[in-house]
Amino acid sequence: MAAMDTANKLTVLDVDFLSISMEEALALIEQVIASGDKQCVSFINADCLNISCKDEVYRNILNSQSFVLPDGAGINIACRMIGERLVANLNGTDLMPELWNVGRTKGYRFFLLGAAPGVTERMKAKLEEAYPGIEVVGEQHGYFDRESESDAVIEKINTSKPNVVLVAFGAPNQEKWIYENKDKVNSNLLIGVGGLFDFYSGDKKRAPVWMRKSGMEWMYRLYLEPGRLWRRYIIGNPLFVYRVFNWKRRAKQ
Ligand code: UDP
Repeated sequence: MAAMDTANKLTVLDVDFLSISMEEALALIEQVIASGDKQCVSFINADCLNISCKDEVYRNILNSQSFVLPDGAGINIACRMIGERLVANLNGTDLMPELWNVGRTKGYRFFLLGAAPGVTERMKAKLEEAYPGIEVVGEQHGYFDRESESDAVIEKINTSKPNVVLVAFGAPNQEKWIYENKDKVNSNLLIGVGGLFDFYSGDKKRAPVWMRKSGMEWMYRLYLEPGRLWRRYIIGNPLFVYRVFNWKRRAKQ
């Protein structure tokens, strides 16, 4: 299946992604699982595209995938700057609950990989409470040595026979790990989900709905973790707009 071959592809800063609705994204995901296919899914926001400008390996990995989904107000702004209309902002924190809901009725088996020790256990408990019947078949924190311990982690994943492996190491580490290990992991979907587990475990608070709807979630994250995130947002956001402006100008020449 080549979701990216559809007419729904957009490109910003030389990275291709899908401009589709939430319903279409879920239908594509369900199709992958039903057909027994294997696909990797990434979400990209302005920070990811800033990273991809300097990290060619990451950029090539994104462009090798069929499922790259737009996440966040920055991508929306970039699309408007290049005269394109983005169908939907498909951030993982909104798409995953839809997938958990579909998953519990269709018997999908989820494996949680990533975040600090203890987070996946708390997340599993929260999911089982909120989505009765959901099958979280295994979990593993993300602070293992990816060089020397990945094979043991993959064995743990494969023993639990998941359909969907959620990988939460943050970008671009999760995309690189998925790319390097996808052939060894027996699962239909490997999805890079960034900081998702920290929110769904209840360890970090998510922005109020009105902030999320108005594209200001990043401000809330900055308010919670200024020391870690100021560079990403205060420098990264204007840099992103500048890069898109230049990229568009170069493309016209
Ligand atoms: N993380 C991890 N292993 C590492 C480094 C980070 O599992 O070696 C986790 C970290 O605990 C956090 C997630 O990766 O849960 C990244 O979160 P961040 O907020 O940076 O991701 P974003 O959603 O902003 O990309």
